[in-house]
Amino acid sequence: MDLKSKIRVIEGFPKEGISFKDITTVLQDKDAFRECIYQLAEAFRNEEVDMVVGPEARGFLIGAPLAYELGVGFVPVRKPGKLPAETISFEYELEYGTDTLEIHKDAIKPGQKVLVIDDLLATGGTVHSTVKMIEELGGEVVGIGFFIELEFLNGRKLLEDYNVKSLVKY
Ligand code: IMP
Repeated sequence: MDLKSKIRVIEGFPKEGISFKDITTVLQDKDAFRECIYQLAEAFRNEEVDMVVGPEARGFLIGAPLAYELGVGFVPVRKPGKLPAETISFEYELEYGTDTLEIHKDAIKPGQKVLVIDDLLATGGTVHSTVKMIEELGGEVVGIGFFIELEFLNGRKLLEDYNVKSLVKY
């Protein structure tokens, strides 16, 4: 199946100059959704994975079904103040200002092999921060997977030490 043809591209959202890749059209199509999760599972089938970690919000939509398909657990990474138990956090630079992400301190055990999943790789800041928190907790990042990669933003540079795979490239 041509998954790219199922992604809706909306020009000028959320602001002028952005060509937004809308995956809701994939999620609402039962065959495309299944194919997306299946292809990501295939991409990492040979890795030993103990846990999938995904950042909010679209990382949940892809990461949780992928974890289910791989037969492992799922850990959410969230914006500050959303996770109820003890957390660690990571602050990272944006074009203007900073952003912070959090993960539960007890979610990853030292030595666990972790697969990080998000819907889309842009500059790489979101997933890079996620990786840093996993490593701080003693986890080993064995793979990083994206449904979509915006190659022109060169996010792979920030993740060059890792096994990065994506299904659809722009
Ligand atoms: P990065 O941190 O710059 O790599 O941005 C990636 C994050 O921004 C992901 O969590 C995406 O969900 C979100 N994002 C950026 N651009 C798009 C887009 O065109 N469609 C959907 N999500 C996007």
